[in-house]
Amino acid sequence: MYWADRLVEKLDKQKKHRVDDMKTPSGHAHVGSLRAIGTHGLVYEAMRHAGLDVDFTYVVNDMDPMDGLPVYLDKDTYQEHMGKPLYAIPAPDGVSESLAAQYAHEYISAFNALGFRPTIFWSSQLYKDGKANDIIRKILDNVEVVRKIYKEVADQDKPEGWYPLQVICPDCGKIGSSLVTDWDGEKVTFECKKDLVEWAVGCGHTGMISPFDGNAKLMWKLDWPAHWKMLGVTVEGAGKDHMTSGGSHEIASRVMREVLNETPPFAFLHEFFLIDGAKMGSSKGNATNASDMVEILPPELARFLLVRTPFQRAINFNPSVSNTIPDLFDEYDRCAKEWYKVGDDSPMGRMYQASQIDEISKTESYLPRFRDLAQVIQFPSVDPVAYFSGRKGSALNEVEQAILSRRIDYARTWLEKYADTQDVYTVLPELPESASKLDDAQKKFLHNCADFLDSAHSTSGDELQSQLFEQTKVLEIPPQMAFQALYTVLLGKTHGPKAGWVLFDLLRKDKEFLLKRLRLS
Ligand SMILES: [Zn+2]
Repeated sequence: MYWADRLVEKLDKQKKHRVDDMKTPSGHAHVGSLRAIGTHGLVYEAMRHAGLDVDFTYVVNDMDPMDGLPVYLDKDTYQEHMGKPLYAIPAPDGVSESLAAQYAHEYISAFNALGFRPTIFWSSQLYKDGKANDIIRKILDNVEVVRKIYKEVADQDKPEGWYPLQVICPDCGKIGSSLVTDWDGEKVTFECKKDLVEWAVGCGHTGMISPFDGNAKLMWKLDWPAHWKMLGVTVEGAGKDHMTSGGSHEIASRVMREVLNETPPFAFLHEFFLIDGAKMGSSKGNATNASDMVEILPPELARFLLVRTPFQRAINFNPSVSNTIPDLFDEYDRCAKEWYKVGDDSPMGRMYQASQIDEISKTESYLPRFRDLAQVIQFPSVDPVAYFSGRKGSALNEVEQAILSRRIDYARTWLEKYADTQDVYTVLPELPESASKLDDAQKKFLHNCADFLDSAHSTSGDELQSQLFEQTKVLEIPPQMAFQALYTVLLGKTHGPKAGWVLFDLLRKDKEFLLKRLRLS
């Protein structure tokens, strides 16, 4: 059974639901972040599939302070902003409303492209609109209960005078450096400290201020349940870093129950999504971003990657390992076939369905195999449409041609950025050592080929391929041995793309070179 369907079985089918995910927009979102939004998005879709009344939200945590400087930001420009809420920091692109807005929109576009379209909430706006006011009051009034929860869950002693709230300093605008020390029911007393944290230097300002209407935010472990309550969240998972015993999720859940008197959302722990972006990373000078995902894989394949792996299992996706992407396409294609055979009655069919962004077409389309296609496009003389029409057994229709041309784009990217040298067809500039190991029959075949090609008038690689077969019959050499000889002298391998294509390609590029090589000189 598809993991998201299994998870939905545990939910109350009668009540109205809201699935939520959130993230701090402090820089480019790493591709690994897609595990969180993707898992939530797929759960939301599976709930709809099961007929539940549900919507989907995403919170941009733009009230959070900037507590680290990404390597790609200029230190001289951004040092002074350390500790300010992200929504109040100028955008690196000079165009966006703020740093938070720039990175949040970049990430939102990345997951929108995968078909995940939650309603977006900006945390700063919720606070400014007063949506958190009652919650802040409740938490400050019941701070002893909060301290007790910290002690019991995480064995942390929070002294009298500790409040889980951070004020935006009216003087310097920083939130990360402020320490609240008292609450009189209307205002909090605070100090903007120079040495509260290592990453931000406060201005030393002290004073009293109302904690409402966006002047302050709750600390993360209380900010989280505050959002659950503000938005009425009923389902929200988290990465395993938050879900440890004594961790933030446990504290947040107890605050939700014991201070805010609400039931915490149904929770699940999703594993990480690791991607080896070394090849891509080195060219870009940074890690693989979430927005790069749709360059590596078509959206439905990227979704399939999340769909086929249960959320409790880590995804270790390494596009540079030669078979990773072709294998993923193969598996996807098998699931597509299954869908057209039995619909969502089988897990494979259901996984194909869950990977789609748009409604599935009623008529099955021929899917050109990615692995073959990546070879075909390396030979300019081979027409992919004609080739795959041949494989299909009839002409590709318009939809199938569109699928083909889209897959060609991804195959080109794959060949360029990820494919192993063995997947990329290259003719050796020199005769390889291994050629000396060929036996007499093989050598005779090669010489024969050279003579034949010298005068041949083949019009395509496929025609040449059949002519090569004829030659093996004439010489009474097993075809496998004959073709192995060709691959050995040309590619230095025992196998390769269709030999007819290789020879046809070389005939057109450099006939003299080819004949010389076949004559082993
Ligand atoms: Zn200050």
